Amino acid sequence: MIIFGTKGYLHQLAILTLVCAQCGNPAAHTLRKRVTKFTLFFVPLFPVSTKYATQCTFCGAEQKVTGEQAEQLQAQALGGGQGYGQQSQQQPYRS
Ligand SMILES: [Zn+2]
Repeated sequence: MIIFGTKGYLHQLAILTLVCAQCGNPAAHTLRKRVTKFTLFFVPLFPVSTKYATQCTFCGAEQKVTGEQAEQLQAQALGGGQGYGQQSQQQPYRS
């Protein structure tokens, strides 16, 4: 008998201050990564899907972001520190 299924993992990658699209407040947003893994006999083997989302801590609105966006947000959270709801479209480090 083979027992298999999936298991979800939730990782909090960063906390960012963003202007919420839902409530319009410059509130803290959590950047989350949700990984669903295929399990065999309750042992997680490989990820089936990876999804990213930001969630407003003020109103709880969740917004899906792509992996690329999530990476940018994470870089912003780690390196930036200057942006308070700043949404710069400039990407000088990209060739
Ligand atoms: Zn909000």
